[in-house]
Amino acid sequence: MAPVDAEGALRTLAATLEGGGESRAGQIAMAEAVARAVRDEQPLVVRAGTGTGKTWAYLVGALLGTKGRVVVATATKALQDQLAGKDLPAVATLGLRPGLSWAVLKGRSNYLCRQAASEAGREADTPALGLEGDKGRATGRDVARLLAWADDTVTGDRAELAFEPSVAAWSSVSVGSDQCPGAKECPSGTECFAEAAYERARESDVIVVNLHLLGAHVASGGHVLPDHDVVILDEAHEAADVMAGALGVTLTPGRVAAVARLASAGGLARHRDGLDRALAPLLGTRMAEGATGDATVGEALTGLAEALRGERAALRGLQDDPALKARRDRATKALDALAADVETVLQTGDEVVTWVEQAGSQPALRVAPIDVGVELAKVAWSAATPILTSATIPPGLGRQLGLGSGAVDLDVGSPFDYRRLALLYVPRLPDPRHPDHEARAHAELEFLITAAGGRTLALFTSWRAMRAAHGTLVDRLSCRVLAQDDLPKPALIDIFRSNETSCLFATMGFWQGVDVPGTACSLVVIDRLPFPRPDDPVIQARRERAGASAFDTVDIPLVATRLAQGAGRLIRSNTDRGVVAVLDPRLAESSYRPVILAALPPMRRTRDRSDVTAFFDGAGRAR
Ligand code: SF4
Repeated sequence: MAPVDAEGALRTLAATLEGGGESRAGQIAMAEAVARAVRDEQPLVVRAGTGTGKTWAYLVGALLGTKGRVVVATATKALQDQLAGKDLPAVATLGLRPGLSWAVLKGRSNYLCRQAASEAGREADTPALGLEGDKGRATGRDVARLLAWADDTVTGDRAELAFEPSVAAWSSVSVGSDQCPGAKECPSGTECFAEAAYERARESDVIVVNLHLLGAHVASGGHVLPDHDVVILDEAHEAADVMAGALGVTLTPGRVAAVARLASAGGLARHRDGLDRALAPLLGTRMAEGATGDATVGEALTGLAEALRGERAALRGLQDDPALKARRDRATKALDALAADVETVLQTGDEVVTWVEQAGSQPALRVAPIDVGVELAKVAWSAATPILTSATIPPGLGRQLGLGSGAVDLDVGSPFDYRRLALLYVPRLPDPRHPDHEARAHAELEFLITAAGGRTLALFTSWRAMRAAHGTLVDRLSCRVLAQDDLPKPALIDIFRSNETSCLFATMGFWQGVDVPGTACSLVVIDRLPFPRPDDPVIQARRERAGASAFDTVDIPLVATRLAQGAGRLIRSNTDRGVVAVLDPRLAESSYRPVILAALPPMRRTRDRSDVTAFFDGAGRAR
C-alpha cells in the first residue's frame, strides 16, 4: 500500500534504495513543508543543506500535496537527466500517484529538427552549407553523421549523441523557437522530435525542465509549458541571473548573419558589419543611457530595423515555391524575432540595463531587466505555487524573485555534524588589498597543503590570482598541483578524485558542481571573499536601484552565496572530514561578517595554525 505521509514515504525510499531505514529529520521536515505549501497554495523557500536529500523531499512533498501537474526546474541539463533517470523512477515505486508519468523537456534547439535535417541532406553536396576548406569538410562529416543518427534516434535529443558535433553542424540540423513556424505550418511537423517531447510533457504528471526553459516560458508570457499546479526551482540561487538572461535580449553580428543566410538576404551583410563596427569600441562598457545613448550604435540599430522591415516585405511578396516554403517560413519567423528584439532595444527605458560584452569572437549587445521579480510574479507564480530550494539561499532571494511577503521561509539545515567534521580557518593575514597580502597568502597556502598532505581544492576569485599561486607553489610542493587550464573540467576532477594527494587550483567555474567525497578533498582554500566585480553592469544597475542599502542588499548576499557554494565542496558525505581556509581576514574582522558566516555550514572556527595541524593529525589517525 502506498505510504500516506512524507515520513512513511521517505523511510520506505531509504529502506529500499539505501539499504537502511534511517530517517533524516531535515528531509522529512522539508517534504512535509512542501506538501503543506502546495495544499495551501503558499509560496515556500527552503534552504536544504548538503546531504538533506532535497530532491526526494520535494518530489514526495509535491505529490502528496497535489494531484495536478508538477514542473521541476533544475540548474543544468545533467541534473534534469538525473531526476528523470534516477530520482523519479525511485519515487514512482512508492505508488503516491498510480502510474506516475514524467518527461524531460528542453529548449527546441536541443532536438534535431527533421525539416532542417532534410534540407541539409539535400544541400550537403552544394555550397549552401559552406562546406569548402578543411573546416567546411569537417563540418560536412559531422552533418553526415548527424543525418545518419537522425534515422536511428527515437528522441532526437542532442544529449544522446555519441560525439560532439561542431556548432556549425548542429546549427544546420536544429532550429531555435525563434525560427520554428510551428508543427501545423511545417511539412515535417507530424514527425517532429521537439513537438513529440512537448506532447509527452503535456501527458505527464511531472515535467523536468531547466531554469533556462522556465525563463523562456516566462518570457513568452506563459506559452511554452503546459498548465501546472506547482513549480519547483532547484538550485534557486541561480534563478535571478538565468531569468535576467532569458527575459533580456542579445544582439550580435553573428545573429544578423545567421538570419541573413536563412532568408538569403544579402542586403543584411552591410548592417551586420555596421553593428560589429559600432559595438567593438564599446566592449566591456555599460550603456547607462541605453543603446541609443551612443549615436553610432543607435544609427546601426535603426538602419538594421529598416533593413529587416524591407527583407520581411520582400519575403512576403515572393510566390511560394512549395519546395522552398518551409525554409521561407523559418526565415520569416527569424526575421520577425530579430526585428522585435531590435525594436525592444531601441525602445528600452530605465527598467533595464544595457551593456556590450565579448561573446566568443564577436561583441554582443545585451539588455537585461534589473528586476526579474515582476515578470515572474505575473507569469509564473500567478499560475502555480512556487517552491524554491537550494543549499544556499541568499538573504532576500524570495523578494528578488517576486514572491511577495506571504512566502514561508524554512531552513532544514544539514544532516552532517559540521562541528565535528569540519574546521573553518581564517589566518591572521593583511587585508587582501595590502601589497604584502599575496606573498603571505602563498606561504599560508603552502603550510595548509603540506599539513593536509595535498588533497586540496584551492578556489580563486580571478585567473590572475590562480596563476600567481600556481606559479609560486608548483615547484615548492611535493604533491601534484593541477591548474584549471591544464585540462577540461571533467578530466581535472577525475584526476583530483583518483590521485589521492593531488591538488587542484581553479577559479569561479569550480566553486559549484564539484562533488568529490572522501579524503581526496580534505582541504578547501578560498583566496578572498568573492565580491562581484565593481564594473559588472547588472550588479551596478542593481546597486543604483538599491541606493544607500546597496552594499547590504546587493553585494553581501552575493558574497555569502558564493562563499557558501565554494565552502560546500568540502563535506560531501557523513564520513568526510576537512578544513575550509579563507585567506581573507575580513571574514573574521569586518562588520558584515555575521551575515556571511550565517550562510556557511556551522563549522568550528579558528584563527590558529596549531588547530589546523591538530585537526589534520587527528584526521590522519582516522584515515
Ligand atoms: S516543427 Fe518543423 S521546423 Fe519546427 S522543430 Fe519541428 S521539424 Fe523543425
